[in-house]
Amino acid sequence: MIFDYAPAPESRSVVRLRDTYDLFIDGEFTPAEGAGTLPTVNPADETELARFAVAGEADVDRAVAAARRAHDTVWSRMSGAERGKYLFRIARIIQERSRELAVLESMDNGKPIKETRDVDLPLVAAHFFYYAGWADKLAHAGLGRDPRPLGVAAQIIPWNFPLLMLAWKIAPALATGNTVVLKPAETTPLSALVFAEICQEADLPPGVVNIVTGAGETGRTLVEHPGTDKVAFTGSTEVGRQIARSVAGTGKRVTLELGGKGANIVYDDAAVDQAVEGIVSGIFFNQGHVCCAGSRLLVQESIADELLPKLKERIGKLRLGDPLDKNTDIGAINSAAQLERIRELTDTVEEEGVQRWSPSCELPSAGYWFAPTVLTGVSQAHRVAREEIFGPVLSVLTFRTPEEAVAKANNSPYGLSAGVWTEKGSRMLWTAERLRAGVIWSNTFNKFDPTSPFGGYKESGYGREGGRHGLEAYLG
Ligand code: NAP
Ligand code: MG
Repeated sequence: MIFDYAPAPESRSVVRLRDTYDLFIDGEFTPAEGAGTLPTVNPADETELARFAVAGEADVDRAVAAARRAHDTVWSRMSGAERGKYLFRIARIIQERSRELAVLESMDNGKPIKETRDVDLPLVAAHFFYYAGWADKLAHAGLGRDPRPLGVAAQIIPWNFPLLMLAWKIAPALATGNTVVLKPAETTPLSALVFAEICQEADLPPGVVNIVTGAGETGRTLVEHPGTDKVAFTGSTEVGRQIARSVAGTGKRVTLELGGKGANIVYDDAAVDQAVEGIVSGIFFNQGHVCCAGSRLLVQESIADELLPKLKERIGKLRLGDPLDKNTDIGAINSAAQLERIRELTDTVEEEGVQRWSPSCELPSAGYWFAPTVLTGVSQAHRVAREEIFGPVLSVLTFRTPEEAVAKANNSPYGLSAGVWTEKGSRMLWTAERLRAGVIWSNTFNKFDPTSPFGGYKESGYGREGGRHGLEAYLG
């Protein structure tokens, strides 16, 4: 029987948008001193959701001064147990407002409500709960008897998991006694501004969290500000390189979480149906806007003919469309610029001998959309095997021996994630030991947990976020 799902849109009425959002400095919403405002749109229909202030040098300066004051006079002097209470309070308010935040995040980012509601928001709350628990136990974290906060942290995050990346940055920083100035991405500032309201609601002392919105220039100003002690950045390798250069020699501590080109290795003994699910979630979760996406499928040649038709059949069942519909699997591409980049990387693949396949799926007329795409006949030399596409595009390569699988997986300037699918524990461990990737999943993919450290090798960056390791990045 062939049937379709009736539309099941989530109501937008839980979200109260303001026309214009100011900066959040020293516990108050405050206008920017000059650089004007920018719009943020809903990428699913290109409508303008709101405008937000663009922070210039004077504003960044005010935010850093507020964070310094709060650090020196209040936050770093408070007991860990007291700081923990604030973090627990923030975590609980996030849970209370999670439906509103999930809808808002889907509207500003374009990702499906199924993911914001069931993945992003539960993980955001879990990060605050987890680090709240560490705040009074830092002397037992294996980092010395009296580890000290670094001071003021400049934090810059991308648009793919706006609120989750904020949580990864702010929760460990606050638990360890640091104060922060955070810049969200230009296309997704709204959930960070609602988080600012949550800080007010939680009575967080003014200046502990400051949010400065703007474009890349605001980020650069924040990174170059001499008044901070630490820079934490998640984003592209290109900007990460610039940041490493500008911070070199200043004595600031830096952590960089950058791009990836994750290999998902499927051996011939793997449970094929489960592997198909893992491959799909590995690359189509969050429209493939995932730094640790399994964007390179390495399948053992002897099972490629069995696996690929099953994979295509499964992809044909994914529902693309309205991010606020609870049935939607694939939402909108975050911005016109990102859509252009995906197209630029994939437009000419067929001329290079790659076979391109997408299921028949109708793309909405307004908004930014890209059909799930599988590229076969890909070799190591192809650009789509080497460069991060950051979209719903899977490049398929084959291998014959485990040695070849490992060599191909490691043949990348990146080293963030990998997956290994096999029924044999020994083969899994043999492979994992040889992979140069920060996170390796076995018989699953794209699973996250606040207790588990995350970070990269090589051009995927340095430092770890999450878990006990994530505390180290904020303690001296
Ligand atoms: P991006 O251009 O590097 O932007 C990231 C953030 O940096 C944004 O807030 C951006 O502001 C800001 N920025 C831009 N230019 C800057 C500059 N010169 N100095 C300081 N800040 C600057 O990256 P993106 O394209 O938004 O994000 C996608 C990338 O992030 C992908 O490569 C992905 O792999 C990576 N990523 C990595 C991880 C990880 O944990 N390893 C997680 C998620 C994403 P504007 O948005 O206002 O330009
Ligand atoms: Mg937006």
